Amino acid sequence: MTGSTTTATVCVAGCGPAGAVLGLLLARAGVEVVVLEKHADFLRDFRGDTVHPSTLDVLDELGLIDRFLALPHHKVSTVGFVRDGRRLDVADFSMLGLRYPYIAFVPQWDLLHLLTSEAARYPHFRLLLQAEAHDVVRQEGRVAGVRFRDPGGEHEVRAHLTVAADGRHSAVRRASGLRPREFGAPMDVLQFRISRRDTDPDEGYHLRMAAGKSVAVINRGAYWNIAYMIRKGGHDDLRRAGIQTLRDDVASLVGFLADRVGEVTGFDDTRFLEVRLDRLRRWHAPGLLLIGDAAHAMSPIAGVGINLAVQDAVAAANLLTGHLRRAQAKGRPVPGRVAAAVQRRRWAPTVATQALQRGAQRFGIDRALRGQAEPPDFSAIARLPFVRALMSRLLGVGVRPEHVRVPPMPPRGQSVEGQGR
Ligand SMILES: Cc1cc2nc3c(=O)[nH]c(=O)nc-3n(C[C@H](O)[C@H](O)[C@H](O)COP(=O)(O)OP(=O)(O)OC[C@H]3O[C@@H](n4cnc5c(N)ncnc54)[C@H](O)[C@@H]3O)c2cc1C
Repeated sequence: MTGSTTTATVCVAGCGPAGAVLGLLLARAGVEVVVLEKHADFLRDFRGDTVHPSTLDVLDELGLIDRFLALPHHKVSTVGFVRDGRRLDVADFSMLGLRYPYIAFVPQWDLLHLLTSEAARYPHFRLLLQAEAHDVVRQEGRVAGVRFRDPGGEHEVRAHLTVAADGRHSAVRRASGLRPREFGAPMDVLQFRISRRDTDPDEGYHLRMAAGKSVAVINRGAYWNIAYMIRKGGHDDLRRAGIQTLRDDVASLVGFLADRVGEVTGFDDTRFLEVRLDRLRRWHAPGLLLIGDAAHAMSPIAGVGINLAVQDAVAAANLLTGHLRRAQAKGRPVPGRVAAAVQRRRWAPTVATQALQRGAQRFGIDRALRGQAEPPDFSAIARLPFVRALMSRLLGVGVRPEHVRVPPMPPRGQSVEGQGR
């Protein structure tokens, strides 16, 4: 049963990086947008912390870079892996002559809070928290909005365009009948914390591997955020083997944590995160566009999923805003070809980035986790200057970096419901 019906020009389901950036860009351009977020806040512990050089450019173009860099963060300019104790940087952003030649590690809740509080300065922006989209509204063969639940009951948002930015388990995608093509991932992730000391070495962004195990450690200031890879389907085996197995693996891969692995007292201190790698063949249907992980779920490899989601949002705003303004003024639907243009623009960057992740999964992580074969040694190739420059550009900037093209309307007031942090 429907409690209330809200109308907007655009309804965005999901306020992760893709939804937050799109909501901000549209509201800033004078397009009425309602963003639905199923959680009450952004404070989930691990959602990925990486903000890449091309996303930093976007923040700069939005006038947010100073506020962003004032957030607690640390900068990393190299990405690579450590295999059997030997470190290999496959990307070094300092060689590219970029304005921001580093990945900034910032807890994602801080980034999302910054984006949504900026969006809240524009009267056309509304963020509804604890609002879980579960179905689409259909009218005359088009998607005409979203049905959602909140603590008050069932509601609808009716919109000229619905954008699914609700992540890799997208409910809007499921409701619209679109099915992604699965590429598979050899691993899932157990995430947990171990305390950090000022005397600990400064890590870049490196995946540590040895036969049978792999781990990534991320500096969160007071603690290390550990992403411990487990074979797909191997979670129960690990639990049966016991927590000491996990501690021993971490101690052997990250020597400076050996004296602290006991801080992980049991599996209750860990969080299971499913890894998926998939892609829709078609990212749109009449009245609907899908972006970010809802269109193409990214693996954690190289931490590029957030960047891709942000770039999708910028491309969508650049291509859609004029049509959306006309739809808003004249009450006309947004032509389907416009959503198709967003997919066309973002297809090559997505395919190229996913191909890189699939290669790293297949030749690196899969082999390491199976412990059957030594991962192939790419170090000689990776050290070649042009290969390094190429990898640095691919990982830091992406295949087709997007820039904010839509000019802002002056902010006039605030309109945020239930937003908290
Ligand atoms: C274990 C793991 C680690 C990763 N680490 C990194 C990393 O370090 N760096 C990196 O760049 N990428 C990382 N990724 C990939 C990255 O998380 C995604 O590519 C990126 O978050 C996609 O952004 P998005 O906005 O499309 O979706 P999401 O970030 O998934 O955001 C979707 C949002 O929609 C909300 N939502 C979901 N369903 C609904 C609903 N029905 N109604 C309303 N709201 C809904 C969610 O609460 C969320 O806020 C990792 C992935 C995994 C699996």
